[in-house]
Amino acid sequence: MSTESVESVQTINSSIQEHDNVLLVACFGTKTEDLLIDFETLAQPEVVTRILHNGLTLPDYKKLSEREIWAWSLAKRLKYLVDIVQESLCSSLQFTHHCCAEECAEQLEFDLPLNEFSHLVVKEIITLNIEGQELQLRLPTGQDQQLWLRCPKLPVTELIQSLVLSVDKKRPEQNWELPESWVTEISAALEITDPLMTLSLDLLCPICAFNNKVDLDLETQLVERLKLAQKTLLLDIHTIASAYHWSEEQIVTLSPQRRQFYMKQIRAELHEGAVI
Ligand SMILES: [Zn+2]
Repeated sequence: MSTESVESVQTINSSIQEHDNVLLVACFGTKTEDLLIDFETLAQPEVVTRILHNGLTLPDYKKLSEREIWAWSLAKRLKYLVDIVQESLCSSLQFTHHCCAEECAEQLEFDLPLNEFSHLVVKEIITLNIEGQELQLRLPTGQDQQLWLRCPKLPVTELIQSLVLSVDKKRPEQNWELPESWVTEISAALEITDPLMTLSLDLLCPICAFNNKVDLDLETQLVERLKLAQKTLLLDIHTIASAYHWSEEQIVTLSPQRRQFYMKQIRAELHEGAVI
């Protein structure tokens, strides 16, 4: 078994440079609203919106509206999801991957440090020159993601056309159609500008030296971590409520340190066979 740390995420693009430092990030699992997120049945974009809505506030502690969060680019939504996981759970994500080289299959373990993303700000508009025309595009948003999920057969050209803000500094006419020949170039530019959505890592196997290409869906990985945290929290609430008869709200609003203290006490007393 081998352990590797991914020191830098090479795919981060210069379009994401520094944290805008405007929103406050709360710890997931310290509010009853966090227990209400239905990870099992809601679609992932819906789950992400709920997590961001519960976990972020303006400097005056006012909440953002869900509508505003839906209108954020996918990159911005992901960046704040990273911030919430970092604040609540861990500073890096651990993964395992079996080496893809023939007759090797060594289990590689690697860490993805989340602080790579915590000082970043997303550039929401990109400019491209295609076939002598200057094109301005916005990044896809949570609303776009919702639309794609509802209409999976929507043609890619139509999806991309909806992102075009201007052509040669003019807003496209209503009957304007995006040339098919532009789609590949625009898709590539969006992928480069929005690198966190398709995180590609190179993992060198220390046994056979094979370079493993690993694609990570960072958003899904982060949501999975929070889903597990919610499950652990519910089990802790059950244990503490059974022992102390406190309400769900009283237990969930305990700081994680105090909650862990009570859990440790309960486990210790159970281990000793004492009745609580
Ligand atoms: Zn190998």
